[in-house]
Amino acid sequence: MLRDARCPGPIRLWVLNVAQGVVLAGVLMILVHTFGLQDMLAGPPGVAVFVIAATGCTISIHLVTIGRIQRQIRQAIAEATAGHRTPICLSCGFDCAASEGDYCPECGASLLISTSGRPLP
Ligand SMILES: [Zn+2]
Repeated sequence: MLRDARCPGPIRLWVLNVAQGVVLAGVLMILVHTFGLQDMLAGPPGVAVFVIAATGCTISIHLVTIGRIQRQIRQAIAEATAGHRTPICLSCGFDCAASEGDYCPECGASLLISTSGRPLP
C-alpha cells in the first residue's frame, strides 16, 4: 500500500529537498542580480544571503513535499479500503482500529470509504 504511494525514504527525501532548495536559491540569486536588486540586500555578504535563501527554500520545498506524501498515503489507504471502514482516520490520521463506530473519535470524520475510494460524508 505504501509502495503505491511512491514515498521516498528519509535520506533520499532530504537529499532531493536540499538539492532543490539550493538550485531554487541559486535561481533566486541570479534573478536578484539580473534585475539589479542586490542593493536591497545591503548587510550580510553574498554567501550568507545565499545560505539563508537556500535554507528557506529547502524548508519550504520540504513542507510541500511532506504535504504531497501525506495526500498520496491517504489516497493509497482509501483505495486499499474501498467499500469498507478504514482503520486510520483520513482527516486527522488518528488510529481508529480499536474504536467500534464509523466515525473518528478524535475529529468526527467518517471512516467509511465508498467503492470508488473516496471517504463518505
Ligand atoms: Zn479523525
